[in-house]
Amino acid sequence: MQIVHTIADLRAALAGKGHPAFVPTMGNLHDGHLSLVRLARQHGDVTVASIFVNRLQFLPHEDFDSYPRTWDADCAKLEAEGCDILFAPRELDLYPEPQTFKVQPDAALADILEGHFRPGFFTGVCTVVMKLFQAVFATNGGGVAVFGQKDYQQLMVIRRMVRQFALPIEIMAAPTARAGSGLALSSRNGYLSDEQRVQAMALSQALKTLADASLQGGNLAELEAQAMADLRAQGWEPDYLTVRQRSDLQTPEKAQAGQLVALGAARIGGTRLIDNLEF
Ligand code: AMP
Repeated sequence: MQIVHTIADLRAALAGKGHPAFVPTMGNLHDGHLSLVRLARQHGDVTVASIFVNRLQFLPHEDFDSYPRTWDADCAKLEAEGCDILFAPRELDLYPEPQTFKVQPDAALADILEGHFRPGFFTGVCTVVMKLFQAVFATNGGGVAVFGQKDYQQLMVIRRMVRQFALPIEIMAAPTARAGSGLALSSRNGYLSDEQRVQAMALSQALKTLADASLQGGNLAELEAQAMADLRAQGWEPDYLTVRQRSDLQTPEKAQAGQLVALGAARIGGTRLIDNLEF
């Protein structure tokens, strides 16, 4: 696996290699990330992963400084998965000057749910992803990029960005990789104590319970409030637990199986976890 840090070196490494399949990450890689790499390998001429903890998408009080950085282990895992190129820009490689131009997604999609609780988050995500896409694809005429369904709203925002800017990039979704307990794998799970890790499975269970209850009928807002109260009783601080339409993440007029997704974000101890379930 070739490791490059600058955009120029990345483009040189990609020259003549066809259409890349690209997996952007913030590192601290787990099996979820690696499943994306496996999918990417089947859909490109050359497989590229990136590791970059993007300051633009963190709020001042969030965990940018403490975000787990596990460089050697990450390189070994990518190498073992057969990744061809690892793009690991330093901050000045990607942002040599203050990034004053930004990609601002539409509020209807990006200021709800995650964007409501993390203002500016999706602007930070879109701006870095646009930049990474330019670095990886511009000189190779497009390709495929793989994102996880774990970050459901992010996947939708990126798809819409690609569509609206007519980027020559196909976005592929990879299903959420989970631990045996049902807990969605996440770099932030590393913040959990053993006890919290056991408690953490309650988030995916709460989404399942909410999904089932919403199909039984009843008032959605009340069911959501009940789901949040149940999680609170188990020591969580939920930001939201909600049922939305898959098409636009708006509240459905009526719950119809096959078109919905339950999404949740909640803190256990100081750790904020997210998850979702299509149903
Ligand atoms: P991150 O490093 O958290 O920015 O994630 C990089 C990519 O991996 C994103 O597309 C995530 O959606 C995806 N990802 C993270 N966790 C999982 C998981 N448990 N299953 C599948 N994909 C995941």
